[in-house]
Parts: sequence; C-alpha cells; structure tokens
Amino acid sequence: MIPIVDLKGQYLGVKKEIMRAVEDALDSCQFILGEDVNKFEEEVARYAGKKYACAVANGTDAILLALKALGVKEGDEVITCAFTYFATAGAIARCGARPVFCDMDRRTYNISPEGLEKLLKVKSAGSRVKAVIPVHLYGQMADMGEILKIAKKYNIKVVEDAAQAFGAAFNGKKAGSMGDAGCFSFYPGKNLGAYGDAGMVLTDDARCVDTLKIYRNQGNKIRYRHTVIGHNSRMDTIQAAILRVKLKYIDEWNAKRQSLAAFYDERLGPLGIITPFVPKGKFHTYHLYVIRFKDKRKRDTAERLLNENGVDARTYYPIPLHLQECFKYLGYKKGDFPEAEGASRETLAIPMYPELTREQQEFIVTLLK
Ligand SMILES: *Cc1c(COP(=O)(O)O)cnc(C)c1O
Repeated sequence: MIPIVDLKGQYLGVKKEIMRAVEDALDSCQFILGEDVNKFEEEVARYAGKKYACAVANGTDAILLALKALGVKEGDEVITCAFTYFATAGAIARCGARPVFCDMDRRTYNISPEGLEKLLKVKSAGSRVKAVIPVHLYGQMADMGEILKIAKKYNIKVVEDAAQAFGAAFNGKKAGSMGDAGCFSFYPGKNLGAYGDAGMVLTDDARCVDTLKIYRNQGNKIRYRHTVIGHNSRMDTIQAAILRVKLKYIDEWNAKRQSLAAFYDERLGPLGIITPFVPKGKFHTYHLYVIRFKDKRKRDTAERLLNENGVDARTYYPIPLHLQECFKYLGYKKGDFPEAEGASRETLAIPMYPELTREQQEFIVTLLK
C-alpha cells in the first residue's frame, strides 16, 4: 500500500525532538498562544522575509481574517481561481463578500493573469472588487509579478493563499511574502504540518497585524473591551511547539520532494503523460505531484489501475468551485471556465511525500507505463 501522503515516517524521524518540545510547552501551562506561538510567528516572518505574523487556528481563518483586516466587507467582491480547494472561496463568502471566479492558466493550474485583467476591465466602473486571492496551487506560486501589476493598476488588495506552498518561491521571493497578506495552513497533510489545525497570516503592514490580532481573539485588544465582533481563532501552544521543530527541516523536506518530482518527470514524460510545468524563476515545493492525461477516460483508467494495485491516486479537485452546489447562487454554469473544468477531468495526483522511496516510485511508474 502506498498512500498519497504518509505522515508516519516523518513523525518517527522527529518524534524525540517533538516530544521534548511538547513536554516543555505543557510544563509552561500556557495552552493557548504563549511563548512558543510568539516565537513561531517571529521565525516564520523571518523565514519568509516579512515584518509581521499572526498565528491563527487554521488556514481557512487565516484567509478570512486577512480579508477582514484588509477592509473587505459585506457586499464587496473578491476574485479567486475557480480551480482551488473550497476553503479559499469559503473564506470569501464567510467574510460576507461575493466570490468572483476566474479561470486558471492551462499549464500551471494557477489563476490566469489575462483572465484576471479581463474580469477587472469589464467590472471597472464602480467595481465592488476589493481583492484578489491568488492560490499557489500544488506548491507552486501563481504568476505574482503579473498579478501584483494588475492589482496595482485596479487598486485592489492581494491576499496570497499559500496554504499548499510553504517554502515555495518566485524569483527568490517566498510564498506568502509578496501580497498585502500571505496566508498559510499547517493542516497535518501540508508540507509544514502541525498535529492538529493551525494557520498564519504574514504582512508588512503594522495596522493589518494589529487588526488581525484583535480579530483572532474575540475582538478585544484590552481584555473585555470589544471593539469589533471577532472570532475565537487562536493557535494552540503545543501546535506552535511542534511546528517550531518541523520548521528547521522544511527546506530539507522540500528539497527531497523536488528530487522525487525530478524522477517522476524523467520517467513519466516519455510515456506521453503531462508532468508539472515549472516556469523559469519558480521554486516548486510539490505539495502534490499532479499529472495530466489527454482525456478523462485515460485518467480514470490510470486511477483505477493504481488503486487496484494499492497505490492511492486522486484528483484535486474533481469539481471546480463554480459548479459546487453551495455556490449555485452565484449563477455560474458548466462551460464558464473551460480550463478549470478540463483540469478536473484530466488530472491525477500520485503519491508524494519526502519519505517516499525510489522503489515505491519505480512501482508507480511501472503501473503507469
Ligand atoms: C488547506 C487549504 C486551505 C485551508 O486550510 P485549513 O487549515 O484546512 O483551514 C485553504 N486553501 C488551500 C488552497 C488549501 O489547500
């Protein structure tokens, strides 16, 4: 059996260090926020080259609170890619804003800058679009150069959804460091994963981080004086302690993923399977290794064959967001985003995690062949 992601090997590798860190955290009897959370905020901010960080309860809240802190409110519109995990658009809607979808770039699976500009041009006069959320899907950053240029031209905020891309880079700039705010998820299966839920927002804006810290803690800066209606979205101390240990290894683990990806690329390309496209200047962290077939039938056959032989393989994501039942009210229909729809039919993620062995990879490649 080869799972899509195996968390056990990594856990065993760092278990001793983690246990010591957890014990120290528990001994401190500060179970929420506390010293480990403060230090983890500083460490991630330094790692990404950003001034401030605000640790929150999960990645979805990171996006939701970042939008709120940047002033997005009821009745506003926020653009994001139709091809992403639900949470990106869920956070927009939970903020009271209306999700506006944009198609993806065919080769990178990230938001299409041309599509974004077209949308903004059409909406131009009296536009209610306040922000765009580029998602760094599968561990590769969106085309941030173009996106920042367009956002500046139309005067909208940029919130990066870097949930899948901790450690990724674009021309040397780290994921989460290029927008007005950068959001991370430390869900256990992410490249930098906690042992429970956790998330974070990065920003260079002192006012933004102040607001974030008020929103994450019930809307009070001074205890029992609530200036806004906030959330309960604080990070647990033991999660920060665990993440501080794992942060030391993230570059090593991401490098391992890259070498595994290079092996897949080399073996699968000649079989006529479309392997991940990495434009110049992009540092891909392969949260997921996603291959693509010429049609849905071939994808389905490959998926079945792998699954029947004990190899987990899945599509991320089988239904683009504009076709989700919960977003029916937005009025989109099939055919609106042909690239996103095509990707949902023809792509397949195959096992990828730093501890995956060559032998396992050989087996997967043989099955696909
Ligand atoms: C995981 C993920 C999120 C949400 O993170 P949680 O910590 O699970 O709330 C948001 N966006 C993307 C693209 C994700 O992959």
